[in-house]
Parts: sequence; structure tokens; C-alpha cells
Amino acid sequence: MKLLFILIVFFVFLLKIINAQDINYARKIIDELTSEKYHGRGYTFNGDKKAAKYIANQLKENNVNPLGSSYFQAFNLNVNTFPSKIKLKIGDIELKSGIDFMISPVSKGFNGDFEVFVIDSTLLNNDYDYVNILTNDCKNKFVIIDTTGVNNKERKVGILDLAKINKFEAKGIIIVAKKIMYSVSTIESSFCKIYITSSAYYRLKLPIKSLEIKCKNKFLENYETQNVIGLISGKSDSLIVFTSHYDHLGTMGSDVFFPGANDNASGVSMNLNLSKYFADIDTLKYSVAFLFFSAEEAGILGSKYFVEHPLFPLSKIKFLINLDLVGTGDDGICIVNGAVLKREFELFNKINEDEKLVSVVKARGEAANSDHYFFYNSGVKSVFIYTLGGVAEYHNPLDISKTLPLTRYNELFKLLTEFVRLYE
Ligand SMILES: [Zn+2]
Repeated sequence: MKLLFILIVFFVFLLKIINAQDINYARKIIDELTSEKYHGRGYTFNGDKKAAKYIANQLKENNVNPLGSSYFQAFNLNVNTFPSKIKLKIGDIELKSGIDFMISPVSKGFNGDFEVFVIDSTLLNNDYDYVNILTNDCKNKFVIIDTTGVNNKERKVGILDLAKINKFEAKGIIIVAKKIMYSVSTIESSFCKIYITSSAYYRLKLPIKSLEIKCKNKFLENYETQNVIGLISGKSDSLIVFTSHYDHLGTMGSDVFFPGANDNASGVSMNLNLSKYFADIDTLKYSVAFLFFSAEEAGILGSKYFVEHPLFPLSKIKFLINLDLVGTGDDGICIVNGAVLKREFELFNKINEDEKLVSVVKARGEAANSDHYFFYNSGVKSVFIYTLGGVAEYHNPLDISKTLPLTRYNELFKLLTEFVRLYE
């Protein structure tokens, strides 16, 4: 009896170690990819290239082969970048880049001191002022728009629509928003556009008369970036494909970078963990491919390029699982296309119930929101899995490894490996 007890304790301990290895490897990958030397895995300071190289090295270490002679598939994109330090001083208060304000990724850079024209509730709630709003000469000014306290919803939407196309013909537009986010743009506009948080805005001394801005953009034409691809051959040349984008938002100025721990170092770590796991199995029914895309944040361009220039026939893909934002799981997981691909969704659900992995597996319909999309559109059976609950930092500098909980990481790993084992 005592021996049995010791054995049980030993096996539980062993299981813990095995699980811990997955989590430790995940944390190692996420810590690395979110560190400053990858510059937010964007298109300044070669962030994307450094990250791609690191992933390829991990594949090699995990005994995963490239397709052909290289792990890389190069492609080009146009992208707007902000490589030098950005300064914004409104009145005599300097705002904190990345925290108080974000440049719109489409923005053109501007330097200098500018007069300010403020459009807020005092103006927007007044019928006469509202109708005559475009008669104000803003040609050499920055327009600040704050819709807080505006009663008329149509006016709220209307003024933001005018801002979108810069109907004011202003040098720049600043929009006050509760939450601000950064993104990536493949085009460059003719004016400067900035978002500032309402809390920063209300710290400013009123009335606001002028501002000072230093912001330089660099529009890169035909910038070369790359997807990373690894393959493990199984008994059949039918493929199970795991995808995850490794790019993120890069830098905003030289001093702010976006680590992108959940989005999507988490997915990359899961993809690499899976590559490690499947490389150790000798009797794989299907071949398994691991695709790491660039330029997802620029409009799912890496996966689009792969679908248009596939390195294996898309018809060979038996099933594709895209992993993006998988670092939490407190409230379960969600499967995009789960509502369409019912047989596969039921298998995920059954495994989850049998193994008691996550609290709920939710199904969603079709959505063009990550790298599964162009595959799915080309007739490939594809799902996109993301975790629910936990931290909500998204597209800001606070999406960091330290606060990413990986709550149900091992459970999701188990769900994915079991799915591949049982899928017919
Ligand atoms: Zn993402």
C-alpha cells in the first residue's frame, strides 16, 4: 500500500514536471519575443527579421525541417513607420507617448508649433455652432475633437466621420478617446492624426490654445518581410497545419515598443511547443506543418501571401488551426468557424469534456479576424482558436509577458494534441 502511494506521488510529480516543461518553454519563448531587442516585431530596426530568425532557430532545435532549403518565405509590403522619438506638448504639458497618446498608424509626421481649434460639447451641443463648424479656418491648425457630453448621437458620429477625411483641412487631428490603441498601416495619409486618452486630456489646462509636436514618419515601400515554415513528415502527405502570426505592432517612435505577449507571442509559443511535441512522435498519421506569419497586424498579409503562393498544395491540408491570443483561458476558449465546422467542433468539445480541460468551448461563425481567414476562403477547413478571460491589455505597451497568466495553457496544449491524435 505504501509502495503504491509512493508510486502515485511519483507519477503525479512526473506529470507535473512534463506539464511544467511546456509552460517553461512557453514562458521562455514569450519572454524572448517580447524583449526589447525584437522591437515589437514590426518593421523598424529589423524587429520582424530578428523574430523570424529566432523562430527558425527554435524549429531547428526542435528537429523540425524546413520546406526545401529555407525556413523562410519572403514577401513585400508597404508600411508606415515612426522610427524617431515622438514629442507632443499641449499647452505647457508634455504628454507621455504610448500611455497618454498614440499616433494613428496612418499618420503623416509633422514638426512645429501649431494653433489649436477645439471641437467639444460646448460647440457640438449648440445648433448654430454645429451647422457652421466647417466655416472655421483650420488650415494651419490642429483640431482637437472631444465628444464627451455630446447629447446628439448623430453629431457624435458625424464629427468623427468629418475627422476621418479631414474635412477641416487641418494640419492634424487629435481625437480624445477613453481607450487608445496602436495598429499598423500600409498607407500614409496627408495629415497628422493622434489619439489621446480622456484622462490625459482632462489633465490639460483649459482653454487649449496651441501645441508643439515632433513626429517623423517613414513610409517604407516594398519592405521585405517573411513567413517562417517548418514541417514534420508523417505516414501520409495529408497535412494538419498550425498557424500563428509572430509579427506585432513594432515601435511608435524610438522609445515606445509594443511587446505583444498575448498578441501573439502566446500563439507562437504554442505553435513551437506543438512542433517540439510532434517531432518526438515516430508514428504520426498525418504530416504536420507549422506556419508563422508576418504582417498579420498590417491586414493579415502574410497568410494571404502564403495562400496565394502556397509551398504545398492547399488541397493537401486536412485541417488548419490558427492560434492567436492564447495566453489566458480563465473563461474558456472560443473557436471561430466552430459554428460552421460542426464535426470538428464536436470533437474539440468531446475531448474537453472527457479530459476536463477548460470551463467552456464556445463556437463562433465565420470571421475575417486572423490568419485562418484566407485559407478558409480558399476552401481549407480552418478554425481560429483564442482564449477567453484574464488580462485585457491589447494593442498597447502593457501587453507584456509578466502579466500574461497562461492560465489554461497546458489544457489548450492537451486539447490540440488530442485533437490531432483523434481526428480522422
Ligand atoms: Zn493577433
